[in-house]
Amino acid sequence: MFELSERARRYQDDLLAFMDEHIYPAEAVYEAQMAEAGDPHFQPPIVEELKTEARKRGLWNLFHPHPQWGPGLTNLEYAPLAEIMGRSAHLAPEATNCSAPDTGNMEVLTLFGTPEHQEQWLRPLLEGEIRSAFAMTEPAVASSDATNIQLRMERDGDDYVLNGRKWWTSNALHKNCKVLIVMGKTDPSAPTHRQQSMMVVPIDAPGVTVQRGLPVFGYQDREGHAEVTFENVRVPATALLAGEGDGFMISQARLGPGRIHHCMRAVGMAERALDLMIDRAQSRVTFGEPVANRANIQDWIAESRIEIDMARLLTLKAAYLMDTVGNKAARTEIAAIKVAAPNVALKVVDRAIQVHGGAGVSDDFPLASMYAHLRTLRLADGPDEVHKRSIAQWELRRRDPQWGRKS
Ligand SMILES: Cc1cc2nc3c(=O)[nH]c(=O)nc-3n(C[C@H](O)[C@H](O)[C@H](O)COP(=O)(O)OP(=O)(O)OC[C@H]3O[C@@H](n4cnc5c(N)ncnc54)[C@H](O)[C@@H]3O)c2cc1C
Repeated sequence: MFELSERARRYQDDLLAFMDEHIYPAEAVYEAQMAEAGDPHFQPPIVEELKTEARKRGLWNLFHPHPQWGPGLTNLEYAPLAEIMGRSAHLAPEATNCSAPDTGNMEVLTLFGTPEHQEQWLRPLLEGEIRSAFAMTEPAVASSDATNIQLRMERDGDDYVLNGRKWWTSNALHKNCKVLIVMGKTDPSAPTHRQQSMMVVPIDAPGVTVQRGLPVFGYQDREGHAEVTFENVRVPATALLAGEGDGFMISQARLGPGRIHHCMRAVGMAERALDLMIDRAQSRVTFGEPVANRANIQDWIAESRIEIDMARLLTLKAAYLMDTVGNKAARTEIAAIKVAAPNVALKVVDRAIQVHGGAGVSDDFPLASMYAHLRTLRLADGPDEVHKRSIAQWELRRRDPQWGRKS
């Protein structure tokens, strides 16, 4: 059922070769260039070199489902490729122009952008010339319920005027970030899910200020997670994506594929952590025996294999359903994998850290940084609890269609 197509297998072989020949050897170069720059948001030359090489090999925009913009792979075909990229998450997604949040933003601009948006923003994004950010979450309100979003978008003649404060706007500190897709309220008196709209806002528009980068467990990620203020930011009415009140509809369209890409990469990270755990357990000796001979360590290795394979199969099932019956019908599986994949990967990375001893929490190995990144995936794109709430509601209504509906 989940057998790879001929072309997906070709891409997989090409990507594996690219990882071995270029990405893994570049990891140390990347670390050295970042350390030398002393700026956490520096764009190291090695990343641009990798982009050139990936493009030359045809490993570019692999995520894009529409054939006019990329190879037009299905979600099921893309899944194993994203998993491979997840093994080197700082480098491989950006090298192949498959990074979040650009992938979701490119999808939105493809589906809902005007020809002008597509020329000004989508084309350079697809070319890897610029990057983008998605600004929905706000510090002042519980943003996992997006109906709480407060940023105001008020119509004024031919313009909209934006006022508000966002945070966790990932990528806004990337040196190439030029554009934000912003969610805000155009009509607070409209029905609850028609109050919000999305607009395309240049990051250098007067009144947009990137206030600071938020650290994650002390790490300042290169792309940055920014707190951004909007003070009387004036954009033309043509900045609107789709129509007024369509913000919720767009966010649903955007988050389905984005969520599953994160999960695929998380499975790849878990695989790499398992490899590291095994190598370390085989190479260290305590009390006369390799650590790998201990029953509890073998239990962790076996449990990790079982859990990773379960997470991968659920991810592939979600991808298959998205391709065959659509994102809406696949919503239970999309929500389920968004909970399962980061949790499985976290468990595997945690075991790998333990097997490494002190080295596991240092930055001589990628495990500590993997852990920090994966932990955020239990929050980003919706916390576990919100996805579980949705799954439970759909399950309850499967038995009683009226369950929880207001009469
Ligand atoms: C590294 C990182 C990157 C991010 N990138 C982006 C980005 O690019 N753009 C963007 O807009 N946002 C981004 N986010 C923000 C992320 O999407 C939000 O943090 C998330 O949606 C939760 O919103 P909140 O932080 O306001 O938490 P709140 O809404 O305040 O929720 C807090 C907690 O309450 C609990 N909770 C909430 N609802 C329920 C419920 N129904 N039942 C039980 N418990 C519940 C959950 O445990 C939840 O974690 C990012 C976050 C992180 C950490």
